[in-house]
Amino acid sequence: MMNGSDPVTLTVREASAGLEHGDFSSTELCRAFLDRAALTEPKVRALLSLDPEDVLRQASASDARRKAGRALGPLDGVPVTLKDNIAVKDAPCTCASKILKGFVSPYDSFVARRLKDAGCVLLGRANMDEFAMGSSCENSACQKTANPWGLDRVPGGSSGGSAAAVASGITCAALGSDTGGSIRQPASFCGVVGLKPTYGRVSRNGLVAFASSLDQIGPMTKSVYDAALLFDLIAGHDDGDTTSLPGDSGGCAADLAAFEEKGAGLKGVRIGLPKEYFELDGISGEVRAVCEQAKETLRSLGAEFTEVSLPHTKYAMACYYIIATAEASSNLARFDGIRYGYRSPEAADINSVYFRSRGEGFGPEVKRRIMLGTYVLSSGYYDAYYLRAQKVRTLLRRDFEKAYESCDLIFTPVSPVTAFRFGEKADPLQMYLSDIFTIALNLSGDCGISVPAGIAAESGMPSGIQFMAPALQEKRLFRAARAFECARPQKEFRASL
Ligand code: GLN
Repeated sequence: MMNGSDPVTLTVREASAGLEHGDFSSTELCRAFLDRAALTEPKVRALLSLDPEDVLRQASASDARRKAGRALGPLDGVPVTLKDNIAVKDAPCTCASKILKGFVSPYDSFVARRLKDAGCVLLGRANMDEFAMGSSCENSACQKTANPWGLDRVPGGSSGGSAAAVASGITCAALGSDTGGSIRQPASFCGVVGLKPTYGRVSRNGLVAFASSLDQIGPMTKSVYDAALLFDLIAGHDDGDTTSLPGDSGGCAADLAAFEEKGAGLKGVRIGLPKEYFELDGISGEVRAVCEQAKETLRSLGAEFTEVSLPHTKYAMACYYIIATAEASSNLARFDGIRYGYRSPEAADINSVYFRSRGEGFGPEVKRRIMLGTYVLSSGYYDAYYLRAQKVRTLLRRDFEKAYESCDLIFTPVSPVTAFRFGEKADPLQMYLSDIFTIALNLSGDCGISVPAGIAAESGMPSGIQFMAPALQEKRLFRAARAFECARPQKEFRASL
């Protein structure tokens, strides 16, 4: 029914064009995705819930609008999948936690509202690490999601369900959230594009808070252009988020189209290579090789590489795990067995409602973080840990400011390794270390993007590269990423399921 277009590889841009030209209807498009999901989901399990009837209802409403000449915009009828910590009115929102099992959101998040206002079809709720704490989706209390490129491997996390949904071809695009790398790392593991916007650029209103000063929602897509399209759609000021910045994205997709017309070159663009990052022992040979090849490609586009220094890198991990856990311990206090979700049936009095509901409702990683966070905020330790971490955060931010005096963008691996096997990183500390290249960006508040760069030689798994740019310079990111995407030697690659 799709007139030759393969829904699996169909980008947002192509879907939008196909709908516009009448090549297919939104109903046909969504049906193709649902058929695909029926085939792949038993193996991949990217989604926590999917309501096919609701999807087809949204699609047919879109078709009716388009037929009447009242399409809400170019993305009317295009399916997008949301991570299960982004609220959609009347849809489940569980954060893959037992404590929110069966919880249905009474309101739309800002981003869901933006997508609905543009006519997008919201397709399914994507699996994640419980409350977005993790790097493999193994901390989901609901199910394991497999990497579509190798079913014995993790999709990354915490937005692993979103990444796997896009990579397995059951949707056009997805939204994830990134607190310390949770969009970029699974994007890299699954061979898709993932953007962590500047802090404050996308409203967090309706995103279940993990660490409020670090969390940011962003797109996960099959192409760089799609990421720009979705970013344009969800970026913008919102009075419902006190940290929301004024203004909007400034039209990144249009900028990208103009850039492409001019040949998408990178002549004169100065790309910084942080020496502390590349000196790390833990980077696998195959990831290094992908980075080297990517550098060659970028050089051939006219980019110039220069070494930069981010001297406080070695403190980033400790700093992140103090600030993120401190904020999490405070944010997760609201799950008390009274206001939301799960209440222990064993509870007999007020104290046991708290203790038992939280004890039974939260998984081990979430408990670990709450305990760590409560500890670093407790009197006597506050100054030694939390306050210190805030000071280190300032130093990290200054490192970046200084680095950007001599470069326009920073280039790094996304993760030291490609997608690992289930259970391979059972030690929490090993898991934390896999975020080494992504967390500093959340601490600095700047923007970054993960772009597929090729298949790593040993594991046969995809590997991405990361570009980082100063706050509000998303256009710069998109341009570099798009130029790279067009020029990379291994152009078409996709998971075979
Ligand atoms: N993996 C990191 C953590 O566990 C980042 C998670 C995220 O970005 N949500 O905290």
